[in-house]
Amino acid sequence: MAETIFSKIISREIPATILYEDEQALAFADINPQAPTHFLVIPKKVIPKLSDATEEDQTLLGHLLLVANKVAAEQGLTDFRLNVNNGAGASQTVFHLHIHVLGGRPFSWPPG
Ligand code: 5GP
Repeated sequence: MAETIFSKIISREIPATILYEDEQALAFADINPQAPTHFLVIPKKVIPKLSDATEEDQTLLGHLLLVANKVAAEQGLTDFRLNVNNGAGASQTVFHLHIHVLGGRPFSWPPG
């Protein structure tokens, strides 16, 4: 699988503000925040995009959502938005699956 900048964050080759880590997942602050709180939850396993996930990733995908919950609570968020961009046409720029977690401001619907 092609490595991305997120692999380098996992391996600490480049710095990031790490908010949570366990054997399967990492959460870190987004370098270009789109809300007062904006962090990313990623699997350590390289899955380029959500649509590349398979049945064998079922537990991992659920775990990522629970990590998002846990870190959001630690950040003092009650209302927050999760976003997954799947593919370049959906504005994905880093091809290592990540869940955006944004909070600290109101969000409108539908998203742009
Ligand atoms: P995407 O558009 O792929 O859904 O989102 C990629 C996200 O990764 C963007 O919000 C971008 O700001 C963030 N990002 C890209 N490079 C880095 C980096 O080197 N460090 C951190 N912390 N975030 C990054």
